[in-house]
Amino acid sequence: MDIRTFTVDSIRTGLRKREFSAVELTTEALRFAETENPKTNAYLRLSSERALAQAARVDALSARGEDAGALAGVPVAVKDVIVTKGLVTTCGSKMLETYMPPYDATAVERIEAAGGIILGKTNCDEFAMGSSNENSAYGPVRNPVALDRVPGGSSGGSAAVVAQGTAVLSIGSDTGGSVRQPASFCGVVGVCPTYGRVSRYGLVAFASSLDHIGPFARNVSDAATLLRVMAGRDERDATSAAAPVPDYTALLDGNVRGMKLGVPREYMQGVTSETLSQIEKAVERFRALGCEVREISLPSTGYAIDVYYVIATAEASSNLARYDGVRYGMRAEVKGGSLIDMYRATRGQGFGAEVKRRIMLGTYVLSHGYYDAYYLKAQKVRAMIAQDFTRAFEQVDAILAPVSPFPAFKLGEKVDDPMQMYLSDIFTITGSLAGIPCMSVPCGVTREGLPVGLQIMCKHFDEAPMFRIAHAFEAARAF
Ligand code: GLN
Repeated sequence: MDIRTFTVDSIRTGLRKREFSAVELTTEALRFAETENPKTNAYLRLSSERALAQAARVDALSARGEDAGALAGVPVAVKDVIVTKGLVTTCGSKMLETYMPPYDATAVERIEAAGGIILGKTNCDEFAMGSSNENSAYGPVRNPVALDRVPGGSSGGSAAVVAQGTAVLSIGSDTGGSVRQPASFCGVVGVCPTYGRVSRYGLVAFASSLDHIGPFARNVSDAATLLRVMAGRDERDATSAAAPVPDYTALLDGNVRGMKLGVPREYMQGVTSETLSQIEKAVERFRALGCEVREISLPSTGYAIDVYYVIATAEASSNLARYDGVRYGMRAEVKGGSLIDMYRATRGQGFGAEVKRRIMLGTYVLSHGYYDAYYLKAQKVRAMIAQDFTRAFEQVDAILAPVSPFPAFKLGEKVDDPMQMYLSDIFTITGSLAGIPCMSVPCGVTREGLPVGLQIMCKHFDEAPMFRIAHAFEAARAF
């Protein structure tokens, strides 16, 4: 049994033909993850007991001839910013080293209700702040494709387990690119759905107006299946959308003839020559598939990083105020000090450097006298960026772009230069600010063998055409 080659479909077939049981598959997946994980540090912990109990439930349902669900028996890894009942959830932070959530995130609940097996929790940048997974309090993750390189971030562990084959599917969170960028660095599919498509209930908040839960998979169809399972209205998240969720996989017919695709000229600048040539090849492929590809403009792109680092840090400074040593996680020992001393010591010791940098910046832009100049201004520019997309989608059905200006960089290469690190998200942040669905699909590799991802962006709730385009591209590449 080679778990690395498994897909949702092959598992369904294997279970139906009784080639293996869900318990056998889960046992092997856990064993493989245990032996392979030291190479990458992608899992923070495995959830063997919970996984095997769920597998037994799936087997029992199948034995009774009942449908065990769209993800029956499929091993799924969960980023450690998504809460799991009875399973420590650290957010990659010392602050939550021992935090035991009393409930499951809606996404996790729905995965299990569909027969999915939660295999373990994956490493990530602390509170999802970062682009390389080097901001984790539990050590960096290595990219399984090239072990001296970063897997991207912040969902680096979730991308790595799928690339390494220690899970078949995983979920991560994307606030400014944290699913798409690591997917592109590790050569897997990663999706950031429309804002509101997937409930954020149980996703530990970083920047609430930008946070999304999204799937990772080794192919487009599996990613589409996982999204469908998680998507849809949830009473426990007021921002979750009631829009109907189509059967995405049923719509993957390979036909993209006549579709209009736009390539924003602003996204073809400042990109390494190898990334650029991969994207150009992709464009040619779409032309060959009968698409009409044209250049478009998203003129406000240049403001995206600035706007994001005002809005995201402002929201983070507010969301992270709850970690004060009283209610969640760690409390620093302070002998004879005041309550304020205890807050100071807890936050000083519990948070890492990047998180502190953002809390300070966010507090600053929200403070009296600066609010109008920074936060309010940023909200206005955010609306301009969203409008760019609205205009573009009057001309085209989807937008093609690079995910990142460069492929996976070396561990340690950018840690001392936050501005360089922030720049790696220039092409993903725009879509997050607009709240539109975006995804990364493997596009090619550089001479060194490093994966390059193609980004596909569509208008709100247009995940179905986005998947269709990605699927047609994947099929054409394989051919
Ligand atoms: N890299 C970006 C940041 O550090 C995006 C992170 C994310 O999407 N969670 O904020």
